[in-house]
Amino acid sequence: MSTVETDKELSVYESMAARFDVAARKLNLEEGLTKYLRTPNREIIVHIPVALDNGQLEVFDGFRVQHSIARGPCKGGLRYGPNVTLDEIRGLAAEMTWKCAVVNIPFGGAKGGIICDPQKLSQGELERITRRYTAEILDWLGPERDVPAPDMNTNEQTMAWIMDTYSMHVRHTVTASVTGKPIDLGGSRGRKEATGRGCMIATDQALKRFGRQREQTRVIIQGFGNVGSQAARLMHEAGYKIIGVADINGGVFNAHGLDLPALLDFLKENQTVKGFPGGENIGTMEILEQDCEVLLPAATESVITSRNASRIKARILTEGANSPTSAPADDILFDRGVFVIPDILANAGGVTVSYFEWVQDRQGYFWPEGMVNERLKHIQVAAFNDVVRYGEKHNVNNRIAAYMLAIDRVAFTLKLRGIYA
Ligand code: NAD
Repeated sequence: MSTVETDKELSVYESMAARFDVAARKLNLEEGLTKYLRTPNREIIVHIPVALDNGQLEVFDGFRVQHSIARGPCKGGLRYGPNVTLDEIRGLAAEMTWKCAVVNIPFGGAKGGIICDPQKLSQGELERITRRYTAEILDWLGPERDVPAPDMNTNEQTMAWIMDTYSMHVRHTVTASVTGKPIDLGGSRGRKEATGRGCMIATDQALKRFGRQREQTRVIIQGFGNVGSQAARLMHEAGYKIIGVADINGGVFNAHGLDLPALLDFLKENQTVKGFPGGENIGTMEILEQDCEVLLPAATESVITSRNASRIKARILTEGANSPTSAPADDILFDRGVFVIPDILANAGGVTVSYFEWVQDRQGYFWPEGMVNERLKHIQVAAFNDVVRYGEKHNVNNRIAAYMLAIDRVAFTLKLRGIYA
């Protein structure tokens, strides 16, 4: 089945737009609405002056793209990295709109990024960059406007700095201004594990379809940060056999299964999985092509493209990362019979528990972890079933089904609201 009519590799935004176009055509979406939903509401570019520890002044470029507020405040991560681009942030912001709609939570989509190399910056420098960035975009932030969360190279501490900066400006503590913050500052129990847990719940549902047990299921994970390491830990505890993991430095592979607790200890000590003695060394990209039942990319975008898709041996692809597969690779995977759990479904556990965190902050009433996990499971299973049924009904693959379902929901609210002119 052909979904995207090109064989050249696409950027994150282009991949999002290519899939959007296919879904919009299948939905017979009106031309005006198509144009509206394909374009972000607002793109903010800031140039942030920051004093480095050596006394020199440096200027960093930062972005916040707000794609849609049709269904509620914008929601989306903030990432740091030397190669962050506006195009990537623009694509990821739109994907956040679709993701929130797939799991049916009342948010629109946004994404932020700052071009910087966190490995070369001290904590003090990172704090100053974060606070100045927050101050620059402050007018567009807030619990009713746009609520950032952690993403690549940002974490609970980053969110604490944003929350504090925002609160200093508005002269009172606004815990609901960010999610993914420390529990002691109004964070939610279960948030740290939520994206990995959601990936596991979605994978469990796929196994159910194939009548396969967790114990017979070999898993490979690329990316061993928040999403990858939590997914590995939870899946290992649940009975899955984790046979390979990798991070940006390299990976480790053991066909008999990795000793996860020992690997997590090794990671804590060495900040990388490379060199773990419980398996053979393997390359970060090479690991994607190893034989396994479940492949879980949880690192960065466009790691599966038309160049390597035909060598993917996994039966199930659980997309923990955002946009790990470029649009031209979709057809190759589909033709090979890979059951793809698309990013906007597979990794939606993070934004779902972010929603719970925002609700708890606004109520000032916090839930026990069991309740968070139970409610996450309920939403993730319902979304999985919605997407798979939608795909079967419209005879499209899971990716296009997830886009169609999401676009349909957002377009419906836009029609109800009408266009203000
Ligand atoms: P993180 O910074 O905690 O971890 C990233 C991991 O990927 C690290 O192990 C790093 O070494 C590895 N990595 C980075 N660049 C790589 C490369 N070029 N090749 C191979 N490995 C590389 O980030 P995270 O929060 O775990 O996010 C990972 C992915 O999941 C991102 O795509 C992010 O957008 C997506 N995501 C995260 C969340 C969340 O709750 N944190 C939610 C939804 C989606």
